[in-house]
Amino acid sequence: MFEPASRVMHTWYVPYKWSFGQRATEFLELMKKEQKIFFGRCTSCKKVMIPTAICGKCFAPLEDELVPVKDEGVLECFTVVYLPFPTQPAAPPYAYGYIRLDGTSSIMPHIIEEVDYDDLRVGMRVKAVWREELEGDIYDIKYFKPID
Ligand SMILES: [Zn+2]
Repeated sequence: MFEPASRVMHTWYVPYKWSFGQRATEFLELMKKEQKIFFGRCTSCKKVMIPTAICGKCFAPLEDELVPVKDEGVLECFTVVYLPFPTQPAAPPYAYGYIRLDGTSSIMPHIIEEVDYDDLRVGMRVKAVWREELEGDIYDIKYFKPID
């Protein structure tokens, strides 16, 4: 009774801007001012995590003040990106990983460099390498590199 709908393959390019929100703005401004990473602490379970409005574990609000955390931790997972796509943080190839900073309960995604990609391993210790002049964005941390 109905013919299959015809399809047209098309790629849309839709640039847009959005607000980071209060907590992410604090995170970036403190990082620029102090050259440290600041996370939020839950008022209930006390877990320390990337700042958001509420705790992702128990949904309680985070404390009003963000707390400084170490800029080193453990690589929890990673991938090596070989193909280009829009809005990439770097020109391929590059490694991208999830880092659990010491004393925190959430991961921080970022680029991993100064390593042969064949040597990347889950559990390896990594540390932030900071940009010389901080600009108030996530790439004030240029990348994380292995330590130890
Ligand atoms: Zn909580």
